[in-house]
Amino acid sequence: MDVIEIIRTKRDGGRLTPEQIDWVIDAYTHGEVAEEQMSALAMAILLNGMDRPEVGRWTEAMLASGERLDFSDLDRPTTDKHSTGGVGDKITLPLTPTVAACGAAVPQLSGRGLGHTGGTLDKLESIPGWRASLSTEEMRRVLTDTGGVICAAGPGLAPADRRLYALRDVTGTVESIPLIAASIMSKKLAEGTDSLVLDVKVGSGAFMKDEPSARELARTMVDIGKDHGVRTIALLTDMEAPLGRQVGNALEVAEAVEVLSGGGPADVVELTVALAREMLTAAGLTPGVDGVKDPAEALADGSALASWKELVRAQGGDPDAPLPVAAEHRVVTAPASGTLSRLDAYRVGLAAWRLGAGRERKEDEVSFGAGVGLHVKPGEEVGVGEPLFTLHTDEPERFDRAEQDLEGAFTIGVAEEWEQRPLIIDRID
Ligand code: URA
Repeated sequence: MDVIEIIRTKRDGGRLTPEQIDWVIDAYTHGEVAEEQMSALAMAILLNGMDRPEVGRWTEAMLASGERLDFSDLDRPTTDKHSTGGVGDKITLPLTPTVAACGAAVPQLSGRGLGHTGGTLDKLESIPGWRASLSTEEMRRVLTDTGGVICAAGPGLAPADRRLYALRDVTGTVESIPLIAASIMSKKLAEGTDSLVLDVKVGSGAFMKDEPSARELARTMVDIGKDHGVRTIALLTDMEAPLGRQVGNALEVAEAVEVLSGGGPADVVELTVALAREMLTAAGLTPGVDGVKDPAEALADGSALASWKELVRAQGGDPDAPLPVAAEHRVVTAPASGTLSRLDAYRVGLAAWRLGAGRERKEDEVSFGAGVGLHVKPGEEVGVGEPLFTLHTDEPERFDRAEQDLEGAFTIGVAEEWEQRPLIIDRID
């Protein structure tokens, strides 16, 4: 095979054959295709796209580059959720124990945050003692014992994606629907789940800023999942405004615990319950039928909270220990009275990142206590001089930049200007 011929084919808008795709992924994983050649190919794909059979084969080739976990011997069906990422998106935290409490097993391989969106592992690591890195045997034991496990993907899982994602990150080729779909699905298929629910976010705080792109990404991933025998559905959900009232690692863990205790912000509860119902149904367990508990009941009756504590303890964490708190706080007040008619998720995410909740480079440490608390959510009233945001950081020199990010992030107007957006925009199966 000739890599230059493959690059030229894509550059000129042609289709890659299955053999070309298998070869180029394998050769890249083994260092026989150079980084500059793969980056040229990734750019050609970003500009000219791939059709469905090409994306399917690209996913399969990345899946074949590593091991595939198998939990088919568990005594309950497995199901998982993947979110394309957003601001304040702590849903995995209440969702995993809730679904476990309702009878399915959830093997969740999660990531760390890069840029303005947070990572589930960073959030959980704010719990004293909690460990993200588990061997495959440990992962299986925690999953068997508690019904859920949330951990980092080992190096053996879709190694081709690991390399390619790092390359895309530095070559301006992340924003390609076929490459995003193949990247996400190769990892999710490698995880060995029977069924999968995708939360595809759309809006200012999401990867996909417009609905047609989000729909296309969702459709592509759902088709890839089904082609591989995994029951897959996607919810298209709103990410114009942050989810919940807390953005930042330990702040989000505390909010997730509120939800697990039967309280918490309405949007976090709504999405947790909707995704949990979809996951259970995809796993063949209909909520409310044949003794399968409904997720809303599991949140209300304490069983989801008990499952959370078990899950945290099984990975070395102390669910009752105090969470880290930032050293410094600053309250930003409303410059006018009225209804908060707009709150830009991207800018809130950026402010949280500036305060230390996220990292600039992969090797950076995050500050667990840093982030932004929202006193007012879109649609709510605020009076001039009343608190709008609380900023949390360990390094007070970070306050000013974060406050600047928030300056253009909101509009306070009259109630009529506020248009209620549905949180769940559509369901794609
Ligand atoms: N998340 C992934 O895992 N891969 C992408 O390409 C984009 C988001």
